[in-house]
Amino acid sequence: MKIRHQIAELYGAWLPNALLELDPRETKATCDSCAMAPSRHRGKTTYREDLKCCTYQPWLPNYIVGAILSDERDSNRVGREAILKKISRREYTLPIGIFPPVRYQVEFNQRAEGEFGWREDWLCPYFNHEAQNCGLWRHRGSVCTSYYCKSDQKAAGKRFWKSLESYLHYVEMALAEEVLAHLDFSPRQVSEMLDYMNRQEGTVAELRSWVMPAAKFKKLWNFYEDPVAFYKKTYEVAKAQSREDVELLMGDLGDLLRETVLVDMRCFQ
Ligand code: SF4
Ligand code: SF4
Repeated sequence: MKIRHQIAELYGAWLPNALLELDPRETKATCDSCAMAPSRHRGKTTYREDLKCCTYQPWLPNYIVGAILSDERDSNRVGREAILKKISRREYTLPIGIFPPVRYQVEFNQRAEGEFGWREDWLCPYFNHEAQNCGLWRHRGSVCTSYYCKSDQKAAGKRFWKSLESYLHYVEMALAEEVLAHLDFSPRQVSEMLDYMNRQEGTVAELRSWVMPAAKFKKLWNFYEDPVAFYKKTYEVAKAQSREDVELLMGDLGDLLRETVLVDMRCFQ
C-alpha cells in the first residue's frame, strides 16, 4: 500500500509526492490475524492475539487530536470517544497534544522482556475492542504508522520503517509547535509541555495517578478553558499551512530525514 494511504490523511496535502508515492510491499505483517500470535509465530517473542502490538500508548499532536474530534465518521468513533474521555479526566491532554500518562510512560520505558504484547493494562486507549483494530486508523501517529513486526525485506525493511517513523515524528513535532506559536504560546511554555514527552521517571504524584494535578494543568493551558474547541482550532491552523510552509518549517533536518527515507526505500525495489 502506498505511503499516501498509510499515513494520517492530513499529510497528503503537505508531504512531497516522492514520499507519498512510495509503495513498500509488505506481506508478512498480517494484522487482521496477528502474525505475532503464539499460534502463528514460532520465535521466542509473541504477542497475545487480542492485544497484538497495541500494548502501546502513542502521543498525539494537537492538530491530529483536532482532526479526530472533527471527524464524525463512525470508523473514527472509538478514537474520538477515548479522547473526549481523556479530556474530561484531565489525562495529560495538553495544548501541544495528548501524552500517555507519565505512570504508563515510565513503566513502558522500563519494561521487562515479554511484557510488550501481553500487558492488557497497557492496551492503547484508542484500540477498538469490538473490531479488534485501531479506533483512529486514519489519524494514527508516526510510531503506529511505521510499525511492522516483520518485513519482507528483513533488517533493511525495518530500517526503512524506522526512517519513516523519524521523519513523521519530526513533522508531528514541527507542526504541533508551529500551531502553538500561531496561538501565542511562548517557546518556554512549549518546552514545559515537552517535559511530558518520553519520560523515564516521574514524581511520586505522577506515578500515583493517571491524571495531572489541577494547578499544573491549568497553568499549561494558558487560560484556554475549552480544550475541545482549542484542538479543533489547532486543526484549522494546521490545515491552513501549505506544502511550501511545511517544507520551510522542516528545514535542513527535514530534508535530510526525507532523503534517508528515500534511500532506505531502495531495498523494496
Ligand atoms: S504489525 Fe502488529 S498487528 Fe500487525 S501482524 Fe505485526 S504485531 Fe500483529
Ligand atoms: S493508535 Fe491505533 S495502532 Fe496505535 S497503538 Fe493505538 S490502537 Fe494500536
